[in-house]
Amino acid sequence: MGLFDIFRRHRKKDEKKQSESASVSVVESLSEQFLSSVSLSQASAAEASDQSQEHSESVNSTSVAVSTSFSTETSESVAGQSLNSESNSVSLSQTQSTTESVAPSVSESALESESQSNSANTQETAAEQKDEDQEDANQTVEKKYDAGLAKSRHGFGARLNRFLANFRHVDEDFFDDLEDLLIESDVGVDMTTQLSDELRDEVKLQNAKTKQEVSNVIIEKMVDLYEKAGKGENSAINFAKEGPTVIMFVGVNGAGKTTTIGKMAAMYKRQGKKVILAAADTFRAGATEQLDVWAKRDGVDIVTGPENGDPAAVVYDAVKKAQSENYDILLVDTAGRLQNKVNLMKELAKMKRVLTREIPAAPHEVLLVVDATTGQNALSQAKLFKQNTDVTGIILTKLDGTARGGIVLAIRNELHLPVKYVGLGEKVDDLQAFNAEEFVYGLFKGLVTTN
Ligand code: GDP
Ligand code: MG
Repeated sequence: MGLFDIFRRHRKKDEKKQSESASVSVVESLSEQFLSSVSLSQASAAEASDQSQEHSESVNSTSVAVSTSFSTETSESVAGQSLNSESNSVSLSQTQSTTESVAPSVSESALESESQSNSANTQETAAEQKDEDQEDANQTVEKKYDAGLAKSRHGFGARLNRFLANFRHVDEDFFDDLEDLLIESDVGVDMTTQLSDELRDEVKLQNAKTKQEVSNVIIEKMVDLYEKAGKGENSAINFAKEGPTVIMFVGVNGAGKTTTIGKMAAMYKRQGKKVILAAADTFRAGATEQLDVWAKRDGVDIVTGPENGDPAAVVYDAVKKAQSENYDILLVDTAGRLQNKVNLMKELAKMKRVLTREIPAAPHEVLLVVDATTGQNALSQAKLFKQNTDVTGIILTKLDGTARGGIVLAIRNELHLPVKYVGLGEKVDDLQAFNAEEFVYGLFKGLVTTN
């Protein structure tokens, strides 16, 4: 999917959201019709109409908030405003889902015996409900990316804007300056060189006269390269066909391993999975306690060992327990630093061997956790881990804390490892499955126009 398709699609979605808020009154009157057609008792009908009264209020405030956030795209306060409009648009879709969810509960209580025809009905409604939930979830994801990439957009975006404001001709100086800018934004040397080479050949750039045209060509090319580099990458988590899925987390101290495990455990638990953690970072003081705090907060189980004990022994205990007690997911926290790199890599290899001995397909994932704020350093760390352990994917943390989101492009271009999840903050729900399209839109929004 090209850059402009992405932007057009998002714009359509934005427009749809606006028109939805306008057509809510239709939904409401439909819901009223529905309610009155069902033989509810007086009391509950009154209650229902009370509810829709309430909803119409929240709906009104939605359309206001949405239009405000539309008209103030560029100011710093956008994050806060779009958050507001998020909570409102959520309440909007809740209105709709409430309307729909009335259906199964009514049919259940009134027609309990006719389970056959009813269950088909309920299933259909459940499917609709699922679609709506999906739509809600998509909107939340968009907002998370939007907020999480605000810094990058302002940093990277503002720099690109400044650059374009000052350019006169597309000449050698232009390319030199563009290369500097991209490297400063962590896009990486390889990608920068490739990009500027291709841009030089791009006749379109010669014809692009306005600041906007030049900007579009540059970003379009960047996205093309990015998509090409990612061909065949699978960003989904590889789950075990049966038995526990084992995910090992590796990466230097401070990258965000423990925090990511805490967030992921909560996510899987929410999905109804039985989750267990292994505190195999036995070398760092306080590491086990930190994971234990997450386990308690998430309400999941944990296997620990003594400080400075053998991490492979913790892994062994955990995988045994996961198997015998039918856990769905085992998340293994590991050390980020030992006396030296060789020891660390050896220790990680040993843990892996223990896992594979107990479950031949395990670990199903070895996720390298990388701190986006450390830029090129993150990239060289990643290369080191990739050489020494069979890393299957990247979790890029602290994207919210960097103004140089270009690192995602560099990772794909230089490591050829899929980014599977991104950390967009410190809170439990600040972990998002990586969505390249949302990322691109979040990063370049405001710099691209489709007209
Ligand atoms: P570990 O040494 O790899 O286990 O790293 P930790 O999980 O202890 O995280 C180190 C610090 O980074 C902690 O203060 C976390 O709260 C913080 N952190 C982790 N992920 C994110 C993120 O996505 N965004 C932000 N802003 N902070 C994060
Ligand atoms: Mg840790």
